[in-house]
Amino acid sequence: MWSYQHQYFCVHQIPALNDNYIYLIEAIEGNTLAVVDPADASVVNQACKALNKPLTHILNTHHHWDHTDGNNALKKHWGCHIIGAASDAKRIPCMDEQVSESCPPQIEGLNIQVLEVSGHTIGHIAYVMDDALFCGDTLFGAGCGRVFEGTHEQMWESLKKLAALADATKVYCAHEYTLPNLRFARNVDQHNQALEERIHTDTQTRMQKKPTIPSSIALEKATNPFLRPLQAEFMQNYATQHQIQANPLQIFTHLRLSKDTW
Ligand SMILES: [Zn+2]
Repeated sequence: MWSYQHQYFCVHQIPALNDNYIYLIEAIEGNTLAVVDPADASVVNQACKALNKPLTHILNTHHHWDHTDGNNALKKHWGCHIIGAASDAKRIPCMDEQVSESCPPQIEGLNIQVLEVSGHTIGHIAYVMDDALFCGDTLFGAGCGRVFEGTHEQMWESLKKLAALADATKVYCAHEYTLPNLRFARNVDQHNQALEERIHTDTQTRMQKKPTIPSSIALEKATNPFLRPLQAEFMQNYATQHQIQANPLQIFTHLRLSKDTW
């Protein structure tokens, strides 16, 4: 477990399954201990024991099993309150409270904003708490989620919302996919110095068996190929190289489809 101090809370990062990350958010004031996307109840229980605190809330980003599988057991064990998207209430197990952009959850000690970020699934949401973003399977280190249920246009709009957050925002995504994503990134974004530096740094980090996550919005904007269409020079070069229209949605769609079969 790795821990990161923010002003009003601490984020504890727990590796789970093959490459998932589960996040425990411990408020500094009050008793709130919330978990984001509990893929596996047992590792969450161990972490709560280590912190010597009961789990109070579950925040789900989307319905996939590797984000919700622990809901039932954790609710039975702790009686915790389960929060998820109003637009996906039927598919999230044991949900108590439906939230949306206009109706975010109110949890003691935390200031939470909800962003609706459909694309990977319909009804996917992200949680922003001050300078921390919990984005599930929408944005990854140097990558983004597959477009399973939504359209490429929806996914692109969702990624733009995340890219508009403050540069210093920490990106707590739900998987450690960064190194394979960087291999794809290098293939489509040559001569990007920031990308080369990230490949070097993140490779070292993984060799030391440490997480490359959290990254930051600034780093993702500079190196993530799925956010690079926001930059005019990248967009023009990519459009010319692939003989497609130079608009961000077209470029994003081409990149996402290329990655699907890469
Ligand atoms: Zn997913």
